Amino acid sequence: MLLSQSLKDLFYPPLCLSCKQWLIKGESDLCFACLSQLPETRYPIDIQNPVAQILWGRIPLKYACSFLMFNALNKTHDILHNIKYKGNKELAKFLGQHFATIYLKQLKLLEIDEIVPIPLHPRKKRMRGFNQAEYFAQGMAEALQCICNTKRLKRTKFTATQTKKSRAERWENVREIFTCSAPELTSKNILLVDDVITTGATIESAAKALLLKNPKSIGVITLAFAND
Ligand SMILES: [Zn+2]
Repeated sequence: MLLSQSLKDLFYPPLCLSCKQWLIKGESDLCFACLSQLPETRYPIDIQNPVAQILWGRIPLKYACSFLMFNALNKTHDILHNIKYKGNKELAKFLGQHFATIYLKQLKLLEIDEIVPIPLHPRKKRMRGFNQAEYFAQGMAEALQCICNTKRLKRTKFTATQTKKSRAERWENVREIFTCSAPELTSKNILLVDDVITTGATIESAAKALLLKNPKSIGVITLAFAND
């Protein structure tokens, strides 16, 4: 370790990105306790798992997967709260890197050309300060050494929150709200990334905007899966 790093650690000891406890030797980013509590779905990245099943018959996908299982009582709830309301971007980015490292072999085989995070409406992004899906996507892109294109999709409508809406209302709420900047995507395997998948309405809408530009393939990965 560099002397400057040791001095920095002495005055500002590194803290766990999730629980904020001091990290001990051998730990980085998340402490071992938080890491061991991550409710991983452990789904393979394929078209058969429960996340992919949500999107069956709606959009032609090569694969879909989520890293963590979400429910109101588990660690994923804490993590999302921490990212969204406390602005913990580093945690979102770390989870992207961590996910991509665990699944590195499978992901490399998919020959992803470009990672596209689902954008927020510019007004919402200004209000929140950042897009958490973008940080999760950037973490993955770093681990996979591929491009994260935050300009590929644009959200053209400001929509109300989806949480209290029925499935039909959710779809109506997000239908045709995305546009894709590329003239053509014919040679590209695109990985579409979002923070949470619930009914899949937002992902379906974003994928449809990409499909108009004829990509070679589209896959979906989200940080969390809320099985409602
Ligand atoms: Zn911790």
